[in-house]
Amino acid sequence: MASHVVGYPRIGPKRELKFALESFWDGKSSAEDLERVAKDLRVSIWKQMVDAGLKHIPSNTFSYYDQVLDTTTMVGAVPPRYGWTGGEIGLDVYFSMARGNAKHPAMEMTKWFDTNYHYIVPELRPDIKFAYSSHKVVDEYKEAKEVGIETMPVVIGPVSYLLLSKPAKDVARTFDLLSLIDEILPIYREVISELKAAGAAWVQLDEPFLVMDLQERELVAFYKAYTYLEEELDDIKLIVETYFADVPVKTYKMLIGLKSIFGIGFDLVRGINTLNLIKEVGFPDYKYLFAGVVDGRNIWLNNLSASLSILEDLEKIVAKDKLVVSTSCSLMHTAVDLVNETKLDGELKSWLTFAAQKINETVALAKLLAGQKDETFFASNAAAIVSRMSSPRVNNEAVQKAAAALKKSDHHRTTPVSTRLEKQHKKLNLPTLPTTTNGSFPQTIELRRVRREYKANKISEEEYIKTIQEEIAKVVKLQEELDLDVLVHGEPERNDMVEYFGEQLQGFAFTVNGWVQSYGSRCVKPPIIYGDVSRPNPMTVFWSRHAQSLTARPMKGMLTGPITVLNWSFVRNDQPRSETCMQIALAIKEEVEDLEAAGIQVIQIDEPALREGLPLRKAEHVHYLDWAVNAFRITNCGVKDTTQIHTHMCYSNFNDIIHSIIGMDADVITIENSRSDEKLLSVFQEGVKYGAGIGPGVYDIHSPRIPDTQEIVNRIHKMLSVLDTNILWVNPDCGLKTRKYSEVVPSLTNMVAAAKMLRDEL
Ligand code: GLN
Ligand code: ZN
Repeated sequence: MASHVVGYPRIGPKRELKFALESFWDGKSSAEDLERVAKDLRVSIWKQMVDAGLKHIPSNTFSYYDQVLDTTTMVGAVPPRYGWTGGEIGLDVYFSMARGNAKHPAMEMTKWFDTNYHYIVPELRPDIKFAYSSHKVVDEYKEAKEVGIETMPVVIGPVSYLLLSKPAKDVARTFDLLSLIDEILPIYREVISELKAAGAAWVQLDEPFLVMDLQERELVAFYKAYTYLEEELDDIKLIVETYFADVPVKTYKMLIGLKSIFGIGFDLVRGINTLNLIKEVGFPDYKYLFAGVVDGRNIWLNNLSASLSILEDLEKIVAKDKLVVSTSCSLMHTAVDLVNETKLDGELKSWLTFAAQKINETVALAKLLAGQKDETFFASNAAAIVSRMSSPRVNNEAVQKAAAALKKSDHHRTTPVSTRLEKQHKKLNLPTLPTTTNGSFPQTIELRRVRREYKANKISEEEYIKTIQEEIAKVVKLQEELDLDVLVHGEPERNDMVEYFGEQLQGFAFTVNGWVQSYGSRCVKPPIIYGDVSRPNPMTVFWSRHAQSLTARPMKGMLTGPITVLNWSFVRNDQPRSETCMQIALAIKEEVEDLEAAGIQVIQIDEPALREGLPLRKAEHVHYLDWAVNAFRITNCGVKDTTQIHTHMCYSNFNDIIHSIIGMDADVITIENSRSDEKLLSVFQEGVKYGAGIGPGVYDIHSPRIPDTQEIVNRIHKMLSVLDTNILWVNPDCGLKTRKYSEVVPSLTNMVAAAKMLRDEL
C-alpha cells in the first residue's frame, strides 16, 4: 500500500521563506540568497518525506508567491503591461505581476476556493499566444533527482487554470475562457514531454474545479482536454487530483471513464458523500485511487481507526495495490510543524497534528494496510482520541445545553427595523446622513510596542491601561474636532479582531508558530477552537465605558461577530460548525447585553467573513446562510429597540448574498463598496424597501490617496439616487488601522464636509 501527499506548505516551519522574500524585496539580500533559502526549504521537505517513508513525494508545490502565478509563467500568460518580451520568465517579471512595479499595480488577487489562501488571478484575452516560458516544474523535478529523490511533479490542470482566470480588462466580460483550451493544451503536452525526458514516472494535475457545479460544456471541455493529453503520456502516469468537496455524480462518471487518467485523488474529509458514490457507481480496476483521509485543512490529529474503516471499505472496491493513502488536499492550508509549539500544554498538543505530523499519519495508515502496524503509533493515537473526546476542557455542559436550546427557534428582534431606526435616531439625536467610522484608528509602532511589552510582562498593568486610555482620549478628541456623529474608541488594545476575543474566551488556544500562508509572504495564525466556548468575563466593556465617559456623543461598542470568529479559526471537527458558531454567538450575546447595560447605545458587530464561509456547492448555500444569519441575530435579539446594532462587511463581493445580509436584521449595515460600486448599490435598493440603515463606504481606505470633498459629494449623490436620505450613512470603506494619521485626518475632514454640504442641500 502506497502513501502520497497532495502538496506541502512552502513558507517554512518558522516562516523562513517569508523573511527571505521580504529581505529580497527590501533590497537587503540578493536573488542568490533568496534562491538558496528556497532550495534549502525544498530539499529539507523532500528529505523529511523520504525519512517518514512516504512513497509519492510531490515536487513543484514550492512557490515564490503563488502556484497559480507559477502556472501563468509556465504558459507565458504575462499581461502585456509588465513588459515581458519572451524567453524564460525571471523573478523581476514574476514579482511585478505579484506585487506591482513602478508603473503598474499588481494583478488582482482572490480567494482560492473556500480557503483563506489568495491566488493571483490570470488575465486572459482571445488573441493570447501561450508559450512555454517557465521550466520550473522540470527544474524542481531535476533538483530533487539530483539529491537522489524521485518525486511526482504537481501542476494546476488546464481546465481549472482557465476557470480560475478572468478576461483581461479590455476584453468583453462574455469572453469564454474555456475557448482557449485548444491553445493552452500544447503547453501542457510540452511540459509532460519534458518531464518524461527527465525521467518522471508520474505527474499530478490538480483540477479542484471538478468539485464545483460544472455545466455540461465545462465537462465536455474537460473530457476533450484529457483525451488530447493522452497521446503525450506513453508510460508517464497521470493522476488528477480533486479537493475541498465531493465530486458531483456526473463528473465522477466522466472522470472514471477517461482512459488517460491513471489515478484520481478524492477529498474524503470534506467530501462526505464520496465514499458512497464510489460504492454505488464503482471504480475501474485499472485505475489508482488516492484516498484523501488525512485532513489538510485542519490541525486535529487523524482518527486513525475511522480512516482505517474508510480505507477498508475502499479496498473492497479498488483493485489491490491500486489504493493509495493520501491527504484530503495540499497540506499548505494547515500549520507546518507541531514540533515548534513550545507554549501549548502537553494534553492539547497530543490532540494536534500539523503538516509534518500528517505525513506520518498518512504513512502509518499505508503501512498498516500493508500489514505492518506501528503498534505504539496507533496506541498513542487511540489514547489521544479518547482523551480529546472525554476531556472536561472540551465539554461544558451548561454551554451545550444553552446552545441546544437555541437550535430550533428563529431569533428576531420583535419591532421592525424601520421603526427601531426612527426611535434610535431620535434618542441619539442624529442628523440626516450621520457620519461614523468602522472601528479602528491608525495603529502606531508605539501602540504595538506597548501591547507587546504588556504581554511579555515588561510593563505593569497600570502603565498599560494608562497608555491605552490616553490613546482612546486622543482618538475621541480628534473625532469630536472632526465633528463625526457616532464615535469609536479606535481599538488600540487589539492586535487582531479574532485573536483579541479568542484570548478572552474559554475553548480557544493559540500557537506560536502555527502560521498558514494567506498570500505571498503574508501568513495568518488562526486560533484553535478546541472546546465549548464560553465567556468568563466581559471583554470590551471596560474600554468602551471609559471611551463613552469622555464624550457626550454616542460611542460605538465594537465586537467581532460569531461567523467571522468561526471562519478565521481552526474549528473543532467533533461537532458541526454550526454548533460551534451558536456557542460563540451566545458568548457575544452576553457581551452585547453587558455593553448595553453599561450605557453603550450603539454596538457594531463585524462580520467581514460571512461571504467566505459560503460552501462551494450551491445546494449547501441555503443551509449555511440559515445558521450563520441566525447566529448573528442571536447576538443581539435581546437588546432594546433604542439600542442600535451595526454590522460591517468587507473583503468580498456581496451581491449574491444580499438577502441574507438583510436577513441579519442589523439596524445599520456599513459595507465595503469602493471595488464593487454601483452594482452593490442597486442590490441594496432591496434594503430601501426593508428600511435598514446603510453605509456603503464613501472612500477606499486600502489606498493612501486622500479623496477630496467634491469627489465624496459625487459618490453620495450617486448613492442617494437609489437609497433614501433617511437610511443613508456616511463612512469609510473599512477600519483605519493600516493608514497613517496624515491620511486619515484630511480624508475624514473631507468626508464630514461632504456630508454637511449635502445636508444643507436637502
Ligand atoms: N472594526 C474593525 C476595524 O475597524 C473591522 C475590520 C474589518 O472589517 N476587517 O478594524
Ligand atoms: Zn472592513
